Amino acid sequence: MEITKTICIAILTWIILPIGIAAQQKAVFILLDGVPADVIENVNTPVLDEIAKEGGYSHSYQGGERNQPSETPTISAPGYMNLITGTWGYKHNVWDNNVEAPNYNYWNIFRIVENANPDLKTAIFSTWEDNRTKLIGEGLPQAGKVKIDYAFDGFEHDSVKFPHNQSRQFIFQIDEYVSTEAANFIKEQGPDLTWVYLEFTDDMGHMCGDGPQFYQAVGKADNQVGRIWLALKHRIAQYDEDWMILITTDHGRSPEDGKGHGGQSNRERTTWIVTNKSNLLPSFYQNPPVVDVMPSILDHLGVKAPVEIEEQFDGESFLE
Ligand SMILES: [Zn+2]
Repeated sequence: MEITKTICIAILTWIILPIGIAAQQKAVFILLDGVPADVIENVNTPVLDEIAKEGGYSHSYQGGERNQPSETPTISAPGYMNLITGTWGYKHNVWDNNVEAPNYNYWNIFRIVENANPDLKTAIFSTWEDNRTKLIGEGLPQAGKVKIDYAFDGFEHDSVKFPHNQSRQFIFQIDEYVSTEAANFIKEQGPDLTWVYLEFTDDMGHMCGDGPQFYQAVGKADNQVGRIWLALKHRIAQYDEDWMILITTDHGRSPEDGKGHGGQSNRERTTWIVTNKSNLLPSFYQNPPVVDVMPSILDHLGVKAPVEIEEQFDGESFLE
């Protein structure tokens, strides 16, 4: 009898243990503002290249479907909102950077994750505070009173620590500050879902257009991503965690000189996605819309949105 019992326990342990020790799924997405696909391909970006080598790189698009109700301006805040809600402007109702009346009935990824499991840790590191206060709508009753567990943002309002100057170098300094803290926090705390937003690339695009200053800004952003990538590699080596990193942008730039954006030209619409995940469906390589990103991150995290929310997604997961 003792032997039978031992065998039974052994079998049970063999069945249960792998479930109990399954790696924790975690994700970080990084938005580099206003970098068209042709630029990311022409500038030397060793970190993005290394990440893409593990997973993949593809073109994607912003701006909704041309001449359809879902057409959305290739402007920053609508572009971020497309990403975090998995819907286009005709649903989330963010049309410009004033973010006047977002329709919070289309839940963002933080609300979905916190609603599914309040124990999951969420974090945001951002050079634009409105991402948290207006787009996510943290604390707002109409946005589900969602709470981000750790927020590191708002430094663009601090003109003492970051003296504002015409060269916009203070935005670069804030990106440095934000990406360094993101790396440290991820390394030490390993939050389950993290959004990092870096702005300087777009500032240089607006100020200088296509040319060396803009390209240098893209190189610097790659270096900032490198800090975070190092932190992930640390987590992966030290803990039983399965990390997804995804880097993308909110819009391209005007075909004429790269200074503007907002329209529906190919160059303004054509964006890109880099991820370390290799379990990619063919759809990842077939120019997916940015609205596929949020369902893909949820898929990786193993988090299900409420059915009535999921039904409204304009995109779908590109993960196997
Ligand atoms: Zn932008």
